[in-house]
Amino acid sequence: MTADGSGSFDLKAFLSSGPIRWLIGGGAFLIAAIAIGTVVTVDSFRERALSSQERELENTVQLINRHFDQQLEDFTIVLKEIAAHVRSSETSPEILKGQLSTLEWHEELRTRVSAYSDAAGISVFAADGTLINSSEVWPVPDVNVSDRSYFKALKSGSASTPIQIEIVQGRISHQWANIVAQRLDGPNGEFAGIVTRTILPATFEKYFASVVLREGAAISIYRRDGILLARYPHVERMIGSNIRTSNVYAYMSLATGGTLRLTSPIDGQKRLASVEVLQHFPLAIVASMTVDAALADWRAQTRFLVLVAALSSMVIAAMLFLFIRKLHQQHRIEKLRLDTALNNMSQGLLLYDSSERLVVCNQRYISLYGLSPDVVKPGLSFRDLLLYRKQIGSFKGDVEAFISKVRRNVALGKTTRNTIETGEGRLIQIVNQPLKSGWLATHDDITERTRAEEQIRHLAHYDALTDLPNRALFHERLRQELASATEDRQLAVLYIDIDEFKSVNDSLGHMIGDELLKSVARRLSACIDTSDFVARLGGDEFAVVKTGVKNPDEVADLAAHALDAIRTPYECLGHQVTSDASIGVAIAPQHGTDLDQILKNADLAMYAAKSAGRRTWRFFEPAMDAHVRARRQLEIDLRRAIADEALEVYYQPCLALQSDRITGCEALIRWRHPERGMVSPVEFIPIAEETGLINEIGEWVLAKACAEAATWPESISVAVNVSPVQFKSGTLALKIVTALAASGLPAHRLELEITEAVLIRDDDAALDILHQLRAIGVRIALDDFGTGYSSLSYLQRFPFDKIKIDRCFVNDLAEADGSSIVQAVVNIASARHMTTTAEGVETTQQQELLRGLGCTEMQGYLFSAPKPADEVRRILLSHHARPAVVA
Ligand code: C2E
Ligand code: CA
Ligand code: CA
Repeated sequence: MTADGSGSFDLKAFLSSGPIRWLIGGGAFLIAAIAIGTVVTVDSFRERALSSQERELENTVQLINRHFDQQLEDFTIVLKEIAAHVRSSETSPEILKGQLSTLEWHEELRTRVSAYSDAAGISVFAADGTLINSSEVWPVPDVNVSDRSYFKALKSGSASTPIQIEIVQGRISHQWANIVAQRLDGPNGEFAGIVTRTILPATFEKYFASVVLREGAAISIYRRDGILLARYPHVERMIGSNIRTSNVYAYMSLATGGTLRLTSPIDGQKRLASVEVLQHFPLAIVASMTVDAALADWRAQTRFLVLVAALSSMVIAAMLFLFIRKLHQQHRIEKLRLDTALNNMSQGLLLYDSSERLVVCNQRYISLYGLSPDVVKPGLSFRDLLLYRKQIGSFKGDVEAFISKVRRNVALGKTTRNTIETGEGRLIQIVNQPLKSGWLATHDDITERTRAEEQIRHLAHYDALTDLPNRALFHERLRQELASATEDRQLAVLYIDIDEFKSVNDSLGHMIGDELLKSVARRLSACIDTSDFVARLGGDEFAVVKTGVKNPDEVADLAAHALDAIRTPYECLGHQVTSDASIGVAIAPQHGTDLDQILKNADLAMYAAKSAGRRTWRFFEPAMDAHVRARRQLEIDLRRAIADEALEVYYQPCLALQSDRITGCEALIRWRHPERGMVSPVEFIPIAEETGLINEIGEWVLAKACAEAATWPESISVAVNVSPVQFKSGTLALKIVTALAASGLPAHRLELEITEAVLIRDDDAALDILHQLRAIGVRIALDDFGTGYSSLSYLQRFPFDKIKIDRCFVNDLAEADGSSIVQAVVNIASARHMTTTAEGVETTQQQELLRGLGCTEMQGYLFSAPKPADEVRRILLSHHARPAVVA
């Protein structure tokens, strides 16, 4: 079998396969058996035909024998009677001769002859051989038979029988005639002559002809000394000849006769012959039949048998042929399928037989090593294949060593698996699997798979952006390191959170955000020792693990170093980017020995650093844990406060700097905690934002403030702070409209204070909401202006009605150049028809300066701190009543 894909198929190989050989052998055996059976049958039929023919001949010859014994007996009676007459006559030979040669005797003889059916003439000869009388002619012609041998034998008395039979040729007619002669004895026993009867061969032959029924049959009568007397069919030249040299003669000498097969001395044909001698005469009858004729029936039979045998052999052969062809076709289809399967495998496949020769080799193997299909094909030995591969450079090892290794493993029945690297850097996995005889080798190019696996393994453990270990690997390695942390070899975990990363990402784009992270990763990696490692935990969080720490100062140095590295400005895609970080440090075993604990503590330290105003680092302290716990408690309390309606809204008036009149009030939430007293919104608003409680609180403040403002003089508006989180819910506009409708407050008396954080996140959605609200008349103020990241750019995005200048700028007013920022803001605002409100005005000096700078309004403790609703209501009423004054 080949798997070279050419589709060629070795018929010889198929025919020499075991089962097919058996099938062909079986068919051949069957045909041979039929042939042998036919031959044996035909042969036995032949023998049977011959012997039945022989029996028939024997019967025939017996019949004829009996006939002739009887006939000749009758035939010779007359001769014996004459002989008896002569012997009993008391006359002299001369007288007797005279008596016998008379006409009377001629008549007498005629009468005797005619008494017999066969007209065979009787002749009487005198002692000197002269014819003296005959039944045939009268007067008798001058004939002398003294020279004939029968005469001589009878005369001399040497004849063994009193009757002699001889065939002679007529002196005149030259016709053959059988002479039956009887010696005549005188009264004293002296020779007195002979008496003969003549039987023509034709007489015998006429009888024979009547007996012979078959073609090819012949009947002859012989004298026992071998002289042919007559034969049917007649053969003139053989009559009178002696057949003593023939086999048949031997049988004539036997009294019993017999049956034999011979070449006829008469016609030279092969014959069956049956010989029988007459009882009373020295004669033998031979009936024969040509073997040809004897076998005529048999031949027909044989023809039929041979035909049947040949036909059945042909049928068997044809069936065998069709069957094998069908098998062959099936085999071919199966083989084609197998070849297709083999050649479309992704693995190279080799099958060796027990003599280490290639049985199957697929296309993939050939192409895998760039081999020639003319060389690598079934029949090639394992050694030659390796030598060839060595020669073309696709095999690197030692051929003999490799062969003995494979042999050893195959002998042990051990499946082996090795991976080798080719010259081109490809990885091939070779599996050798021993079989009952030989072995199967598969060659699998696992380069891509291995690479992909490595990549997957890498991806599973490394961050794609920075290529630093990810959180999973960080945990894994940290767990290992923690196990060996001791007081002498401490371990430090630094949790690093990039401050304001989100705003960089949002304002400058993800590309720059990504570059910033990569840069941080590089810089952190540059800060550490080889035994330490940096990981990216996700988003803008990194971690550094330092091992072998002896002194906390080393860690402090590292943290300071890392912070410095991060704070160094980056040149990134044409932007100058600055970043800061908050770092929390936890040390094992001091701050915990298990992974979760050390991570939690580093995280707490990091939040502490953030709370401490960011841009710094903190070591973990047990108090931090308490702080977090307190924060969690606050959250629980806040939920209860909302449920118990323990929150209140205070209002802080806003004064127009030109007219000194109250233009509106800002609603500020207050929480009177049952144990802790007043809790600042600065403390609980971030918690409410984190937990989502701000939506509920905001809605409540809005409703409360609108309802309260509706009771104020019409010229007084109300400002409500709205958290960025509230913009995310999507129902903010609806809630505001509901609050206005419920309170009956006109939309233009409501002002919403938002920080730029609203615009940083979900720009478009927030802008949509703001535009909708403005469209119904609600005013929008930008709160805490100047504290954010790039406040000015937000002014471009939305046409605010008011800018609230942050307290820190008001604080700085008295200092040199302190007023320049406020001046700039006032100028920008007035250019855009916005009003400005200065927050946190505590001194009259500040008030005067602000008025001088052209600021529209002021808000602060100088005029009034935030007050409960009823108090504010009173202020408003009294204030409304008095005329405008200039302070
Ligand atoms: P904010 O919007 O900037 O509010 C002004 C803050 O400055 C108020 O603090 C107010 O009491 C304080 N303040 C007013 N005049 C002076 C002054 O002359 N000197 C000083 N040092 N401070 C002054 P408060 O009430 O503690 O509120 C803090 C922050 O909490 C607010 O800052 C605001 O951002 C947030 N907040 C308060 N109420 C709400 C609310 O209902 N909703 C939302 N979302 N935030 C609120
Ligand atoms: Ca405010
Ligand atoms: Ca403010």
